Amino acid sequence: MSESSDGAKPCVLLIDPIPSWIVDRARDLFDLIVLPHEDERPAEFLDNVDRILGIAMPGFARVNAAMMALMPNLQIAACFGVGYDGIDVSYAKQHGIAVSNTPEVLTDCVADLGMALTLATLRKVVEGDRYVRAGRWRSEGILDLSHSPRGRCLGIVGLGRIGMELAKRAEAFGMTIAYYNRSERDDVPYPYHASAVALAEACDVLALTCPGGAATLNLINAEVLEALGPKGYLINIARGSVVDEAALVQALSAQSIAGAGLDVFADEPMVPEALFAFENVVLQPHQASATVETRTAMGNLTIDNLLAHFQGRLLPNKVA
Ligand code: NAP
Repeated sequence: MSESSDGAKPCVLLIDPIPSWIVDRARDLFDLIVLPHEDERPAEFLDNVDRILGIAMPGFARVNAAMMALMPNLQIAACFGVGYDGIDVSYAKQHGIAVSNTPEVLTDCVADLGMALTLATLRKVVEGDRYVRAGRWRSEGILDLSHSPRGRCLGIVGLGRIGMELAKRAEAFGMTIAYYNRSERDDVPYPYHASAVALAEACDVLALTCPGGAATLNLINAEVLEALGPKGYLINIARGSVVDEAALVQALSAQSIAGAGLDVFADEPMVPEALFAFENVVLQPHQASATVETRTAMGNLTIDNLLAHFQGRLLPNKVA
């Protein structure tokens, strides 16, 4: 079905990690080259750069201009994920390379993890687990009291698809909502704040659901964390690049914020070791969309975009 006019399957470079059953489906449809990581350059890749017409890649994989320039016949980069901050979109545009992503299908799962991190952090769920396993309940008595989300304000940086679903979940737990976007929405009842600092001052839990990339690099800096204050919590399910991690470690050390729940980091999988020491920090290995159901839907949508391109149809999710 995806054969070109000469009957050959289009050659696609697939950058891991993408679930094995999606790789198997892609292998049926395309002449597939699998790259274990975007920084690797095995002979199978270098010997075939001229044949590669498409890339299937996690949206955060660093596919820069130099890498795309290696593949002179590249036509499409299909991102596995809604974020596509890893790819140099302006190079792709300049060279007529289409870029697609996988919006919507992951929104619920990512919002679920945002709520799970909010609850885990405020209610000391992971700290409590460590406390029981270490025998401290028996030897030291009850864990210090935690905090209820009820009545607290959740400030959302990036009130888009995921932010809206997180807001719904937080409201079900009795939280009020406020937000900061670059532009105010006219279709939501929530108070708008014109900067991340103003939102941090106004809320108790600051949740990040905006895109990564240059526009949001270190948006959450020392000033924002200071505005969040000693009773405030930071939840990041956006991208690690959105947070100045050194400033975060400093704020946690100085107890000038109350805690953090983090799914994403600036240099994954390298997590700043200083974070390991804080009982009031919950860490996740960038797994907000990582359910079998959602990753399957994301993988199928990535393939649908590649197929649409090679069959000359409009891409379902073209971003560039
Ligand atoms: P979306 O619907 O496009 O929402 C993005 C929101 O961010 C919009 O409300 C947008 O409003 C705001 N925004 C964009 N640029 C901004 C900026 N420079 N400063 C402040 N706000 C900005 O996207 P989505 O589907 O909700 O996904 C959001 C992000 O979540 C993705 O880009 C991805 O990085 C992240 N994500 C993470 C995981 C994970 O595994 N942890 C999984 C999926 C997605 P304005 O345009 O008005 O500013």
